[in-house]
Amino acid sequence: MILNPVDKTVSLGHNCGVVGIYSSEEQNIPEKLFYALFSLQHRGQESAGIAYRNRDELVVYKDLGMVSSVLSRYLGEGRQSTVGIGHVRYSTQGGNRIENAQPILVSCNKGDIALAHNGNISNAKTLTARLGSEGSIFQSTSDSELILHLIARSRQPDFEGALAEVLPQIEGAYSMVMVHERTLYALRDPLGFRPLYVGVKGSATVVASETCALDILQITDYRSVRPGEMIRVGPDGRRDEIVARSERLAQCVFELIYFARPDSYVFDESVHQMRKRMGAALAAADAVKADVVVPVPDSGNSAALGYAEAAGIPFEQGLTRNHYAGRSFIMPTSAQREFVVRMKLHPVKSVIEGKRVVLIDDSLVRGTTSRTLVKLIKDAGAREVHLRLTSPELKWPCYFGIDIPTRKELISNSMSPGQIAEHIGADSVVFLSIERLKECVGSSAKYCFACFSGEYPIAVRDRRDEE
Ligand code: SF4
Repeated sequence: MILNPVDKTVSLGHNCGVVGIYSSEEQNIPEKLFYALFSLQHRGQESAGIAYRNRDELVVYKDLGMVSSVLSRYLGEGRQSTVGIGHVRYSTQGGNRIENAQPILVSCNKGDIALAHNGNISNAKTLTARLGSEGSIFQSTSDSELILHLIARSRQPDFEGALAEVLPQIEGAYSMVMVHERTLYALRDPLGFRPLYVGVKGSATVVASETCALDILQITDYRSVRPGEMIRVGPDGRRDEIVARSERLAQCVFELIYFARPDSYVFDESVHQMRKRMGAALAAADAVKADVVVPVPDSGNSAALGYAEAAGIPFEQGLTRNHYAGRSFIMPTSAQREFVVRMKLHPVKSVIEGKRVVLIDDSLVRGTTSRTLVKLIKDAGAREVHLRLTSPELKWPCYFGIDIPTRKELISNSMSPGQIAEHIGADSVVFLSIERLKECVGSSAKYCFACFSGEYPIAVRDRRDEE
């Protein structure tokens, strides 16, 4: 995505990232959580937090902001512990408020519980209304809090019994980690919407949204948590079991297109190699004559390499990304928005001048940023700009953890690729087709494509009114 997320009105929002650690020997768990969350920063930049067992109590620290500013206090300090979880958040459900930061920590009739969740509960509205009518008071607008309410209200006497009762009630996407007393729990929903990995090093078991968070802790022995699986690891050992089943899978294909880091594995796929495959698939269906292939950094890099290799056109870093540009600008005028794009991405004139450019990006939401970017590249002297997208046309909202604008706002619902090209000033615009995307990911039955096709993998009870 071009801007991340400088302005939520023009780009897709990442979802969230989670991590959990249990160690049979005491170690500095908060510091390890910091490193893992730092690696997952791309999954959410609005808030960060950790919860860990500090002697006899579970403690939580969280705030709005990036991992380095919120959690650097945990670097180097010897906080010995055996269990903890962490979270980075991008607000998909509920706003960017401190109340919605995670982990959420509660003391209830089932004991002390801390929870960190990635995904969206797609029947949250229905469940919240039911609990509200039964007297529950919610402290946040995040749907993750629901899970804790359901656990607390369960008639089952213990935590695990309550969890078993609650899981069949929640629908949608959840890759989550919890600490109950001195035990770590990791769960992935039965359709497997969001990724989750588990690895082991010495006395420690670590769970994280992507393998880049395990790599940073030098963990090489890992596997994907299976859809519907619960991993429980604590003082009395580890137990892995399937606790929720589904007839089908619905792994989010957008994790591979855009959200995950290219050095990660998600859904047992190398993100970098998959994006190269998508770029090559775009090239295979493209007869455009061009001089250079230029990615919109960083998410377009791998796909542009694949396109360039397959098309036999040189790959060039024709755009420089300023990683220090601020991110919280919401600019009212197009001139100001253009300036924000200029601050973030800038053409390398020597690469672009006089050239026919194939510009590779991952997706097109409203077209606002692409229009500015095409103008910048043309102003830098490009003869032609041909925009190629590694996702199909985005037409439907997501109910499983990704912040996609309403149908009315998505440009592909009102314009054809030819009209979009005219609108953004490009010489042509081509999207990867759903069919070719399915060929790239191999087994399409394992993936969700609903934001392109409108065919949701489960019936969504609480659909948005504005659809
Ligand atoms: S609707 Fe789109 S973004 Fe949401 S889970 Fe499905 S593929 Fe991913």
